[in-house]
Amino acid sequence: MKCDQGGTFSNGELQRFANIELSPSAGVLNYGQGLFEGLKAYMKEDGNILLFRPEENATRMQTGAERMCMPAPTVEQFVEAVKATVLANKRWVPPPGKGSLYIRPLLMGSGAVLGLAPAPEYTFLIYVSPVGNYFKEGLAPINLIVEHELHRATPGGTGGVKTIGNYAAVLKAQSAAKAKGYSDVLYLDCVNKKYLEEVSSCNIFVVKGNTISTPAIKGTILPGITRKSIIDVARSQEFQVEERLVAVDELLDADEVFCTGTAVVVSPVGSITYKGETKKYGGGGVGAVSQKLYTVLTSLQMGLTEDKMNWTLELN
Ligand code: PMP
Repeated sequence: MKCDQGGTFSNGELQRFANIELSPSAGVLNYGQGLFEGLKAYMKEDGNILLFRPEENATRMQTGAERMCMPAPTVEQFVEAVKATVLANKRWVPPPGKGSLYIRPLLMGSGAVLGLAPAPEYTFLIYVSPVGNYFKEGLAPINLIVEHELHRATPGGTGGVKTIGNYAAVLKAQSAAKAKGYSDVLYLDCVNKKYLEEVSSCNIFVVKGNTISTPAIKGTILPGITRKSIIDVARSQEFQVEERLVAVDELLDADEVFCTGTAVVVSPVGSITYKGETKKYGGGGVGAVSQKLYTVLTSLQMGLTEDKMNWTLELN
């Protein structure tokens, strides 16, 4: 789908996956005017396909588009486009228990612009790919390292929206962490260098007794749809959930830590290294709270339990 700055998107069409043509002076290439989303489709035993809260992704794209001076598709256009793309690619949705179809909606300033300004034209597209587990560990606990020099987001910046530049900002720390054998990087706030923010591509939760704490949304972390869902699921399971400032020191005292995201689902954390000290969790296994929340959420996403929350959208 295409549209002019200030205009509205007209409905698009299905095309084969292929390279696209862009002007060398396209806004996205020069000034980073790009946003994306990520969703997953699971196949049920009866062959129908389930999407998880796609309207939440549509709304988040709209919020991000406003921050990045871009027009966005309507919620209905976004959801209809996701549905049409998934149904056209039904043969790529892995069978039940074998993974999912990852869906990547992308919005970019595709028009040519030389002086710094919003692009004169925008493109919205969606591509898909079958995927398995995000971390090579699978569901086994991941190992994080706390980064205390490089930051992915600053107050007043774009950390709270899913713009492409946020991901460029994490590449250096993430590559260094991976080279040292860690699964990913946990970021701290850049003002106090003391409070947890999030991991490169997922949100973080800290468990202590019956209380689960997660950094509050305050503009520098992405408001994850899995995060929001896990908060509701945890409360429905009688956990107390707190959204607040979570100090890095609290990691030392925690019973369990886990990450949430569309790609990572609920990933238990096995260890966190901070300033050379490593704190281990769960004795190498998956913590009981992470396991419980993982099971409740994925059963719902895969259609194995009744969807009392009304979060799934079934396609056939
Ligand atoms: N934080 C960042 C930086 C992310 O890229 C993602 C993945 N979209 C998340 C958190 C988790 O968000 P969600 O649960 O909506 O996938």
